[in-house]
Amino acid sequence: MITANSPRPHPPLWQQALRAAFSKPASLLEFLELDPELPELALSRVADFPLRVPRGFAARMRKGNPKDPLLLQVWPRAAEDAAHPDFIRDPVGDLDKLGQGGVIHKYRGRALVVATGACGVHCRYCFRRHFPYADATASRSRWQLTLQRIADDPSIEEVILSGGDPLSLSDDKLAEFAEALEFIPHVQRLRLHTRQPIVLPERIDQTFMDWISRGRLDKIIVLHANHANELDEAVAEALRPLSALGVTLLNQSVLLAGVNDSVPALAALSKRLLACGIVPYYLHMLDKVAGSTHFEVSEHRAAALLRELHHCLPGYLVPRLAKEEPGQPAKTLLSW
Ligand SMILES: *Cc1c(COP(=O)(O)O)cnc(C)c1O
Ligand code: SF4
Repeated sequence: MITANSPRPHPPLWQQALRAAFSKPASLLEFLELDPELPELALSRVADFPLRVPRGFAARMRKGNPKDPLLLQVWPRAAEDAAHPDFIRDPVGDLDKLGQGGVIHKYRGRALVVATGACGVHCRYCFRRHFPYADATASRSRWQLTLQRIADDPSIEEVILSGGDPLSLSDDKLAEFAEALEFIPHVQRLRLHTRQPIVLPERIDQTFMDWISRGRLDKIIVLHANHANELDEAVAEALRPLSALGVTLLNQSVLLAGVNDSVPALAALSKRLLACGIVPYYLHMLDKVAGSTHFEVSEHRAAALLRELHHCLPGYLVPRLAKEEPGQPAKTLLSW
């Protein structure tokens, strides 16, 4: 007999796709028809944060181009080994804030739950690459503690699942958590911060749609795409039904040198997001995490880009320029 707690007989397709992701630099280069001898492809030591690129995401990279904007986001370039005193392991100060049950309480009215450390893709600019997830996340055994902390604090209207990538968790676990939240009267909204639907659109399957469309909570998904080429037809098709279900889709990007630090790239991204039913929400300054100096764009240049963007796009396609500052109760918005 299959009960609610039995494991599924077959892993869902998305989990199979995740297992088939590129993890060896040489295999990715071969797939992209790139010469491993090219100096710009020289590797850093990747022991602490290995390569991970789903095949569908790699298929959106242009073959033979070592400067492809999608490749640059995932390729462990030798420049990662460059040290800089301003680039540190926990630039956002989250390690200080992480409480029991994986709950970070730094935004008013919102509880940020670090649900898992796993991700569908490994982004080289990510501040979470040095995060001690194994100790910190709200693993299933600790869901009860997480829920208790949310229930005990009536100021929490919104629960934000973050990570890592919360959609690395199975739908059984996510649905169980969402159902439990339904019983906490002061919780109104459930928000997911995820890059998974972008890098692995297979993730948005019927099982996911079933639980996300149930219940009284408003659902918000904050996606993470940095370049228009990431949003191919497969991604658009995966996301359209979510909008139709009333899920609010927003996007946050990171401003990355060589990837999207030009007016044409940012304008194309905003337009493509809208065509997929996603509102451009934040454009983040890079968090100064060790190993990411080569992605940095100055605030001065960021402001100039935004001013130009504002001149050529409708206001709703211009994202808010923001940065994370340790100890602040919200993101800092940068004026331009
Ligand atoms: C910025 C951020 C928030 C808070 O963002 P608002 O949209 O300003 O509420 C919450 N969670 C994560 C992961 C964030 O990056
Ligand atoms: S947390 Fe987001 S940005 Fe960081 S590696 Fe995972 S998917 Fe990439």
